[in-house]
Amino acid sequence: AVSVNPIRNEKTKVIYGVVGIFHDITEMKKAEQIRIDFVGNASHELRTPLTSIKGYVDTLIEDVKTGQIQQAGKFLDIVSRNIDRLMDLVNDLLSISTMESTNSELKLEQINPLQISEHVVAELAVLAAEKNIAIRVIGEVPPFTADARKVEQVLRNLVSNAVKYIPNGKTVQIRWEKDPKNNILLRVIDDGQGIPAEHLDRLFERFYRIDKGRTRDSGGTGLGLAIVKHIMQSHGGSVTVKSIEGQGSEFICTFPIR
Ligand code: ADP
Repeated sequence: AVSVNPIRNEKTKVIYGVVGIFHDITEMKKAEQIRIDFVGNASHELRTPLTSIKGYVDTLIEDVKTGQIQQAGKFLDIVSRNIDRLMDLVNDLLSISTMESTNSELKLEQINPLQISEHVVAELAVLAAEKNIAIRVIGEVPPFTADARKVEQVLRNLVSNAVKYIPNGKTVQIRWEKDPKNNILLRVIDDGQGIPAEHLDRLFERFYRIDKGRTRDSGGTGLGLAIVKHIMQSHGGSVTVKSIEGQGSEFICTFPIR
């Protein structure tokens, strides 16, 4: 688009020239489209568990009226699981919106990466044990400057993904090391089924999932990796993924040394 503004002589107000401004609206349009898609996706994701809750609660109300409460336990279980899902979604949506608000700042401090890793491993121990998955923390790096809670969230999202998506009996490694430029590298490596190459480019987009049905069943919101990317960027770092189908996946986070 082009906008044209006249330039007038200060005194006589006679127009003696024009300034044309070319606006690059393709970028603006793209950002707007991403926002519209995001709101649409979020609403859809929220509506699915709500519709289920509404259905089961209405049925329960009828059943209670007619004294048929044999199914009540089963229905309440489903309601409870859908509420868990809503809470996960709302928490992830809140994380994204807090990170995007301009006044959200990192709380930078010296963090101990191994301590944070052990914390996350302990949190996910029950889930991992259910699938007989071993999680190992490997490597050694000195404390570095970062936002402890955000780094913990990066680890939680990457490790819980690995635990969720790899088959029973496989392993997850959390590896901390330095690269030749002295940046801190966090690598989360699994020996699961891997991710087909055609998905790798889009994996960090909000709500992007490989197999919507299957991953929704496993409790995914499709926001985990978008949050990881956001956190890494806010630290001036980055996240990348390597994966070979049938062999496993590796997520690599780089924290530039401050
Ligand atoms: P979700 O909430 O669905 O897990 P994410 O953004 O965290 O969303 O992940 C996006 C998709 O990437 C997942 O739905 C899953 O299909 C795939 N994925 C992520 N991590 C792994 C992994 N370690 N192994 C296989 N697939 C994975």
